[in-house]
Amino acid sequence: MTIHILCDFDGTITAEDNIIALMRAFAPPEWHALKDDVLAQDISIRSGVGQMFQLLPSADASAYRDYLLDRITLRPGFSTFLAEVRQQVWKFDVVSGGMDFFVHPILQDHVAPDHIYCNVADFSDETVRVDWPYACDAHCTNDCGCCKPTIARTIVDPVDRLIVIGDSVTDFEIAKRADFVYARGQLITLCEAEGIAYAPFETFDDITHHMKEVYV
Ligand code: MG
Ligand code: ZN
Repeated sequence: MTIHILCDFDGTITAEDNIIALMRAFAPPEWHALKDDVLAQDISIRSGVGQMFQLLPSADASAYRDYLLDRITLRPGFSTFLAEVRQQVWKFDVVSGGMDFFVHPILQDHVAPDHIYCNVADFSDETVRVDWPYACDAHCTNDCGCCKPTIARTIVDPVDRLIVIGDSVTDFEIAKRADFVYARGQLITLCEAEGIAYAPFETFDDITHHMKEVYV
């Protein structure tokens, strides 16, 4: 049995959600209502996140990057977890609703770029425009932005065992298709509500220990 792990980035690999941190630091107050609407699933993730980034002037691009790279901390145990993934020859991809300008630099010593799927921030207009290279395919009507089920249909072999690691609304749709979920935060509530098999985690050591017990 081959295991394929799809792992969220913001609030999962990193201690906090970086889009929220960025907006808190740089966006005018309108971002709060957009964030609340996304979390309540009143507007789509693509619409809400796209509008939030449009609140930011492109001229300050380097300030956004510097701010996040200075303050992002990885959740404890991530490197050890990746070492176990390599040792067991589990498949591992990062699927992130975050933006390339912070996801790729943060992961550069940890995950090969061809195993990272995220959105792209374009700074060529007056305000930041988000490109969505992994938008929903014909099978998804959720307007995800970065569509994790679409990515899974592309890269996950249906015979493999799909493990999802995540924390929030961006992980809802893929968690419903997983064989097992490691969950934090709002994703725990969804797993409970939908009867999805899951284990809660705080650090990646929790996941490493659990996976070694179950799959090794
Ligand atoms: Mg997240
Ligand atoms: Zn979708």
